[in-house]
Amino acid sequence: MRAVFLGTGGTYPCTERNVTAVAVQIDKDVLLFDCGEGTQRQFMKSNVSFMSTRWIFITHYHGDHFLGLPGLIQSMNLNGRKQPIDIYGPKGTKELMRFLLTAGYFSPGYEICVHDVEPKDKIRFNGFSVVVARADHTVPSLAYAVIEDDRPGRFDTEKAKRLKVPPGPLFRQLQRGEEVVVGERTVRPSQVLGPSRKGRKIVYSGDTRPCKEVIELAKDSDLLIHDATLLSSEEVLADDFGHSTALEAAQVAKESNVRMLALMHFSPRYKDAQVLTEEAKSCFPEVFAPSDLQEFVVKLRE
Ligand SMILES: [Zn+2]
Ligand SMILES: [Zn+2]
Repeated sequence: MRAVFLGTGGTYPCTERNVTAVAVQIDKDVLLFDCGEGTQRQFMKSNVSFMSTRWIFITHYHGDHFLGLPGLIQSMNLNGRKQPIDIYGPKGTKELMRFLLTAGYFSPGYEICVHDVEPKDKIRFNGFSVVVARADHTVPSLAYAVIEDDRPGRFDTEKAKRLKVPPGPLFRQLQRGEEVVVGERTVRPSQVLGPSRKGRKIVYSGDTRPCKEVIELAKDSDLLIHDATLLSSEEVLADDFGHSTALEAAQVAKESNVRMLALMHFSPRYKDAQVLTEEAKSCFPEVFAPSDLQEFVVKLRE
């Protein structure tokens, strides 16, 4: 499971960075969070294929978060896509997509399913879920958490042997959480498996002031990707425009007990986002400000 920061800038693209988009890859499938203009070119410069994007989640309808969608969707078509794609976003997404997808001569050769979602929704996928929360911005905006299903506990080979389970297919059945019959007896997974292991969790705040909903959503996550548009010397400006400072992002990370914080959505005024990392570090040491195309691998939990 990894996050690839395709675009880390806010507001408008600048020479240092493109506007917002984060790809999260789980096995072969890619979930894309926001899609600022030029996202498809960022994909091409990265080692993630834009064709493997299966689900797109838009936080809100400021241009720096969605203007890359029509181009990306049309390029997928020109590349012969047949696999359907699902697009999720706040209330009004269906309406807006109907408008975007009928601009110009475009007839998709694959199915595009559009869903309006709202805070507290939980969308189930094979092996993971996406949970939706309200973010605190100047327009309706959402935050998303990707939560992997818990994995079964560690398999105790010695215990299984003592219970006379022969190694092979029956071991695998037990590992998958299924009961097996050995001779006259039934062996239950709980007899040979340790406590289940927590799935991994990545949270993406989108544009937001620090808020309790995102703190709640981000609880104990492996990676929190949070708005850090400005330094705290610009706190009033950040608040006026519905954003967070680097220090506020760090406070959210601390309160949520996250393992790692990635700052995002940097104002074009900062040529080097390192100043934002320095500020956040004073409150929360496990932090970095990714540059465009940087990736972060989330390791399996023990
Ligand atoms: Zn923005
Ligand atoms: Zn915005």
